[in-house]
Amino acid sequence: FYRSIYPDGYDVTIPFGLEEYKEKFVELFPHEKKGIEEFMEMCQAVLAGIEYIASRGGKFSPQEILKEHPWLPRISGITLSDLFDKFFKDKKLIALISQLWGYVGLPPDQMNAYVYVAMIIFYLKWGAAFPEGRSHSFSHAMVQAFKELGGDVRYNALVNRILVENERVAGVELINGDVYQCKAVISNVNPICTAMKMLPQDKVPEEYLRKIYAPEIGPSGFSVYIGLNASYEELGLSAHETFINTTYDMNEAFETFRKLEPPKYMVAACYNHIYEDISPPGTTQLVLTTLQMGKLWQNISADQYFKVKDRIADEMVSIVEKTICPNIRDYIEVAEAATPLTYYRYSKNIEGAIYGTTQDVTNGPMLRLKSRGAIPGLYQVGAWTNFGGGFSTTIVGGRIAAGMYLKDKKEDRW
Ligand SMILES: Cc1cc2nc3c(=O)[nH]c(=O)nc-3n(C[C@H](O)[C@H](O)[C@H](O)COP(=O)(O)OP(=O)(O)OC[C@H]3O[C@@H](n4cnc5c(N)ncnc54)[C@H](O)[C@@H]3O)c2cc1C
Repeated sequence: FYRSIYPDGYDVTIPFGLEEYKEKFVELFPHEKKGIEEFMEMCQAVLAGIEYIASRGGKFSPQEILKEHPWLPRISGITLSDLFDKFFKDKKLIALISQLWGYVGLPPDQMNAYVYVAMIIFYLKWGAAFPEGRSHSFSHAMVQAFKELGGDVRYNALVNRILVENERVAGVELINGDVYQCKAVISNVNPICTAMKMLPQDKVPEEYLRKIYAPEIGPSGFSVYIGLNASYEELGLSAHETFINTTYDMNEAFETFRKLEPPKYMVAACYNHIYEDISPPGTTQLVLTTLQMGKLWQNISADQYFKVKDRIADEMVSIVEKTICPNIRDYIEVAEAATPLTYYRYSKNIEGAIYGTTQDVTNGPMLRLKSRGAIPGLYQVGAWTNFGGGFSTTIVGGRIAAGMYLKDKKEDRW
């Protein structure tokens, strides 16, 4: 599942699979056996609740959930730290079991417990997947399916305005002036931009404005993509996903995302482990990723940008050098870094936020912005809505918006 490394040399690999995961934690922390078993039971109960809601197509009564699946509401309103305190005492165990916190973008003291528990139990129950041919092939497959079903895709077509007539969506206008008339728009552009830039300002209801502005904007990323001219076996890269922590204190690590300094939390992903053909035989692809607040990068002057970017990339390579791969520099053939500005450039997400707004206790899946947009005929999807950032969550959110649109159409709502 993942390998974790800590500053005192603690180095452990956690396996995939419900039983294997539980057994490993019990083996590492036998004095916490009872808490670990109860935690796993709770995770299973949460999964049963989620499956129940899914089986009802989202139609359920809150009373029913409170009675039959009480863990769901219970963990939706507390932080992950509060939840862990109910099961564990050992701080090392809490750090290790929280290791994937970067996937959500908040440390356990701030993160919505539901989000983390759902993520962990999904991974343990169904595993994780890497798209053959990299993530682009996944987008490509979706485009193919869309076209086969009669859809038409326009590339390099930046939408500038959503046109409104009779208080509802009437079309879109591209930045080059082209106009497409339509009755509905499903926007994957972040909701702040959709509502505040694309719609006429007097058309956005006050209540909607409050919803999009209330939550905090989450972190962006900083990645170093490295091509190495040796196999991962030769390099000693023993796991697909290695988390390198230079502190046990996750709040302290989170604070480094607000500073232009060496990260105290990063992940080194070696894709060759799961997808042999990702690079030619005898070579390795390694991607180092940490999180960074996008705002920080907006304030770097143009003449300093490359210097800062190269320095942080170099510091991340040094961390790898000191931990999992001492001679990495001898094998680097190519290295390319991406900053929050890179992620902004490609996604146009505000501050380059890769998961949308933060998933704290006030902004978990239950309370997060939903797909119904600011005006009739407008639907909102993507990381800023429904279940938050990530591939599977945004795909499920897209399905919800599509269902909403089809239902509205069937019921002749517009
Ligand atoms: C380095 C990195 C690694 C990650 N790893 C993982 C991972 O392993 N697993 C995982 O689940 N998630 C991962 N994520 C997170 C995941 O990629 C995102 O949460 C997810 O892609 C968000 O999807 P989205 O649909 O909200 O929109 P985005 O992927 O942000 O896409 C928005 C799209 O809208 C387009 N757009 C913006 N403005 C306009 C406009 N005006 N007109 C037309 N088009 C516009 C953009 O061009 C873009 O294509 C990672 C992210 C990063 C940066």
